[in-house]
Amino acid sequence: MNLKNDYENAKFTHIYVEKRVWSHPRTKEILTHFPKAQIVAIDHYKDVFNRRGQDVICEHRSQSLILAQKEDHYFYEGAPVCQDFGNTNFYYCSTMMNCIFDCSYCYLKGMYPSGHMVIFVNLEDYFRELEQILVKKPMYLCVSYDSDLLAMEPLVGYAKHWADFAAKHDNLKIEIRTKSAGHKMWELPCLTNVIYAFTLSPQRMIDACEKGTPSAKARIACATTGLKLGYSIRLCFDPMLYLPTWREDYDTLLRQVDEAFKEQGLSMKQLTDVSVGTFRISQDYMKKLRRTMPAAPAVQFPYVNVGGVYQYPPKLLKEMEDYLILELGKRMDKEKIYHE
Ligand code: SF4
Repeated sequence: MNLKNDYENAKFTHIYVEKRVWSHPRTKEILTHFPKAQIVAIDHYKDVFNRRGQDVICEHRSQSLILAQKEDHYFYEGAPVCQDFGNTNFYYCSTMMNCIFDCSYCYLKGMYPSGHMVIFVNLEDYFRELEQILVKKPMYLCVSYDSDLLAMEPLVGYAKHWADFAAKHDNLKIEIRTKSAGHKMWELPCLTNVIYAFTLSPQRMIDACEKGTPSAKARIACATTGLKLGYSIRLCFDPMLYLPTWREDYDTLLRQVDEAFKEQGLSMKQLTDVSVGTFRISQDYMKKLRRTMPAAPAVQFPYVNVGGVYQYPPKLLKEMEDYLILELGKRMDKEKIYHE
């Protein structure tokens, strides 16, 4: 994906800017990337983002950008459906809302009322609050949940800011999760407490459900390059998605992983860890997602509701996860394989 062309030609032809961040240096810097965009001053991002009756899918196709200020609730406790990788004090934060990629199963389409993208420009306020928390306790923080930060790196550089912050705080561990694959990301700081986490899906699933994302091969190549350079790399086989050919598809994916590791002279034992998890989503998000995406097979699958979470029927779920855990267990220590 050519992000530059994407930003400048297709997306973000309209940029809404809260009046209170109009003069913020980061606002000015972001706007330099869009000399042709129509800039609209607004009072509050919610005036655009939270309007009733928006068509999330249409908006995502011609996404506008909203530059705003986050006022409170900088950090949230990790949700039970998210993997904590054995860490205590598991939190996440949203410095952006919505994503440049367009995965049909993405929970963001069920969570947000809009397909437009918000960037909170006051990153330093997050850091200020985090400084105070870290005086009292360590934290494991996922900074790329409600967007894909690394996909937006050429525009805002937030991953670099987070890594620079983590470099000064030993008791902070951050995870930056991504489906992007720009090798430029290896100009970012290489630190033991910053984990670059790559979501891997079989190519057939990428073609079917993960519009706009880099290929499986490109993601694997980027991850192995990072590992070779000494970065902390996590591979996330999560969400695993069902297709009738899922076993064959994951076999192919694992073969691609094996080949890439071999080419670089690496072993999967060198990974920080891996995660395995089949697709799951809270019932509230699923309700909206099903209304929004009536033709998406990954959304309309007859999932079962277990305690408010939609997931694959237990037999299928177990079959898929067990298979992958078994295969990964042949390649690396079992203690490094996390699953729900
Ligand atoms: S990359 Fe992640 S956040 Fe972005 S659309 Fe896909 S699932 Fe959603």
